[in-house]
Amino acid sequence: MSDCVFCKIVAGQLGAARVWESESVLAFLDINPVAEGHTLVIPRSHAADITGMTSREVCEVAQALAKIAPAVVKAVGAQGFNLLNNCGSVAGQAVEHVHFHIIPRKAGDGRGYRWITLNYGEGVAAELAAKISGLLE
Ligand code: AMP
Ligand code: ZN
Repeated sequence: MSDCVFCKIVAGQLGAARVWESESVLAFLDINPVAEGHTLVIPRSHAADITGMTSREVCEVAQALAKIAPAVVKAVGAQGFNLLNNCGSVAGQAVEHVHFHIIPRKAGDGRGYRWITLNYGEGVAAELAAKISGLLE
């Protein structure tokens, strides 16, 4: 996609601090990191979100995430990481080329992470689980 910022990085038309690459996957540092070492992992081929990726790409990106995250954690002396994917603008996706965030975390780093949760009413969880299951058949 000619107007996609991450496709431009893949093509080398835009600079990025690349940390790892393979035939189908590229990882580079986020330009506005939540924490030092914040890394983005993307498929080289353009897809807006995970539903547009091939099964093979999903596997290769997942393998890359498992490989790269420990290196990010080690490089910055972190103890853990958040693995995050925003899907759709309503979920906060700003760049429409699927990307997974690896955000290294250190004890007391103050970066925060808490969702606002809700409780299911009586029977609602079972009904909803059945509905989702039905859509997967
Ligand atoms: P999201 O909100 O999940 O779409 O995240 C998009 C991420 O892409 C943000 O964290 C941005 O800081 C990052 N980003 C945008 N442009 C670039 C760029 N040229 N190089 C590296 N990271 C970028
Ligand atoms: Zn793209």
